[in-house]
Amino acid sequence: MSKRFSYLSHLECSVCQQRYDADQLQTISPCCSRPLLARYDLAALAQDVQRDEISTREASMWRYHELLPVREAGHIYSLGEGMTPLLSAPRLAPEGIEAPARVLIKDEGQNPTGSFKARGMAAAVSRATELGAQGLVTPTAGNAGAAMAAYAARANRPSYVTAPQDAPPTCLAQTRLYGAEVELTPGLISDAGQIANNVARQRGWFNVATLREPYRIEGKKTMGLELAEQLDWRLPEAIIYPAGGGTGIVGMWKAFQELRELGWLNDNRLPRLILVQAEGCAPLVQAFHAGKTEAEPWPAQEAHTRAAGLRVPSAIGDRLILQAVRESEGTALSVSDETMLQTARYAARREGMLISFEAAAALAAYHILLRQQYLKPNDEVVVYFTGSGLPDIQSYV
Ligand SMILES: *Cc1c(COP(=O)(O)O)cnc(C)c1O
Repeated sequence: MSKRFSYLSHLECSVCQQRYDADQLQTISPCCSRPLLARYDLAALAQDVQRDEISTREASMWRYHELLPVREAGHIYSLGEGMTPLLSAPRLAPEGIEAPARVLIKDEGQNPTGSFKARGMAAAVSRATELGAQGLVTPTAGNAGAAMAAYAARANRPSYVTAPQDAPPTCLAQTRLYGAEVELTPGLISDAGQIANNVARQRGWFNVATLREPYRIEGKKTMGLELAEQLDWRLPEAIIYPAGGGTGIVGMWKAFQELRELGWLNDNRLPRLILVQAEGCAPLVQAFHAGKTEAEPWPAQEAHTRAAGLRVPSAIGDRLILQAVRESEGTALSVSDETMLQTARYAARREGMLISFEAAAALAAYHILLRQQYLKPNDEVVVYFTGSGLPDIQSYV
């Protein structure tokens, strides 16, 4: 058989592994009401494609098109997302560390819409449009709505975004500018989720809410694929990632499994995943330390943090997230808003990097884990700077 553009084979329920058709628009699994995961024909792919061919391709996440769900090149709506730099940044270690720290930054703020959300939405909007979606809907804490609106504009589809009324004004302005209809709710992201469901049903548009459709995570998976490629097909000792809905963590873990199954890794050791949340909203951290397989929702009226992307009181992917962190022998911790603020200033001053509150949480976690000697300066650690600090700049100065 000739080479395929995508080796997507089917969708699978993340709880009971029931199979579903990948070539129809799907939401959560009808069997367990949990996320569906995309599965690929990895055996055929390993036969057809040489790993080293990847590095000759265009510098965007679509260089991994065989491991992405879009069936035809002409159905991709791209703004050049992905292939963000992996930067060495020893001066981001705390002051007073003797040995040069082996800390690397994956700078997701350089994505088209200012955060890694561009990856997920490029994949989800392209695939939904390929499968016939006439319009797109999403609830958002801020960045996801902006990213969806951008790709919907690119795909020439109308879009609707609903957000908590205290979502970052810059993200909302960006979303409106791309042409989306924006509706605010006095509640949290979970309330916005309900509204998005209703609007999608009424209008017959497709809802791309986190893990309620199977393809945003596929786009986010490319953060893990690129990391392996940029490290010459091996992985670091630890990854630090700020988690809200958790698709970044789940997506990267899925990437590593797929790379291992393809035989593309020179060394099969996988990194420890370190999950970071805000002290004011840390349901996953709490569940991790309580040894639970699912997270209790964080009480809505108590969910406070300026890291909008982390203000997620309950994540539908909780089982997958906790499972990934445990399988990786990683850990979870939370950081205060005040520490995020100080750490964002530190990153700007020390290495010229302008980072969001969420990204600052990840860097702060690195400092804490060095102090606790959970990590050593010579451990190779990759910190994900998930978003640019430009929208938050008024809070920093
Ligand atoms: C959404 C978001 C997060 C949280 O990511 P998840 O993959 O949903 O856990 C972190 N940082 C930024 C900047 C975000 O926009």
